[in-house]
Amino acid sequence: MTTAVLPASPAPPQVLLAHHLRQLKLPTFLREYEKVAAEAAREGLDHVRFLLRLAELELIDRERRMVERRVRAARFPAVKSFDTFDFAAIPSLNKPLTLELARCEYVVARENVIALGNSGTGKTHVSLALGLAACQRGFSVAFFTTAGLVHQLMEARDERRLLKLQAQLAAVKLLIVDELGYVPLSQTGAELLFEIFSQRHERGSTIVTSNLPFEEWTSVFGSQRLTGALLDRLTHHVHILELNGESYRLKQSTARRRRVSRTSDVKAAAADPETGDITPAS
Ligand code: ADP
Ligand code: MG
Repeated sequence: MTTAVLPASPAPPQVLLAHHLRQLKLPTFLREYEKVAAEAAREGLDHVRFLLRLAELELIDRERRMVERRVRAARFPAVKSFDTFDFAAIPSLNKPLTLELARCEYVVARENVIALGNSGTGKTHVSLALGLAACQRGFSVAFFTTAGLVHQLMEARDERRLLKLQAQLAAVKLLIVDELGYVPLSQTGAELLFEIFSQRHERGSTIVTSNLPFEEWTSVFGSQRLTGALLDRLTHHVHILELNGESYRLKQSTARRRRVSRTSDVKAAAADPETGDITPAS
């Protein structure tokens, strides 16, 4: 007895096309082709224009996906941009220079940026916005707090994978090291951090933010010799951003408190002093 082997029915073309487009990594093509085909039919577009529209959609989406991937890889603590930054609140900050830096030519030129200023003046915000701008322009970015970076370096050294981490850190186009100066570093920590800056010197851009003026950096690194050598490398090609002024955070919360107390003043004024009844304002 023989069992008849039925010829496998050919897969419908849509199924094959979906399979091929997935293989080719063209998800937008796959998602959009029916819709764009309907549009093309309605508008009387020829097949070249139909394909062109799909290719453009794929490119736009691919660019967006790549930016998203770079932003995730950068490990920003928050995504912030210059759109939400109020330059008027911090007159000491050179706005034209900052916006020029957002065009990222310093990254191409492998120059550094140092943002100095007291707490709450927007140093982290500016460094995040510069980091986002770099992601949008196609550069790889890594964001660390100084303490976090030193911690990771020490851990990598203990686990004998320091060289690998150093190579990764040397390879990113833009390294952001936030909050230098809040905690003094151990001698090993200072040396490991120095090595990173040294390895990146003229090979990639580094942004450092600090609440301390340069004269006080020795207190972070312990040794004057090390601090001198570090500043020498970091400030060789550098753009300095000065953010000195009132803390934005403090100003916001004071303004908020003032608003709240003003509202309660209004309520108190409208309330009958004997009964406590509140007369609605006319
Ligand atoms: P710093 O790093 O200098 O201590 P941050 O960048 O963390 O300051 O700023 C504190 C908070 O205030 C953040 O939420 C930040 O987004 C906001 N902020 C600071 N300066 C500005 C500004 N000029 N415009 C808008 N938001 C600001
Ligand atoms: Mg900060």
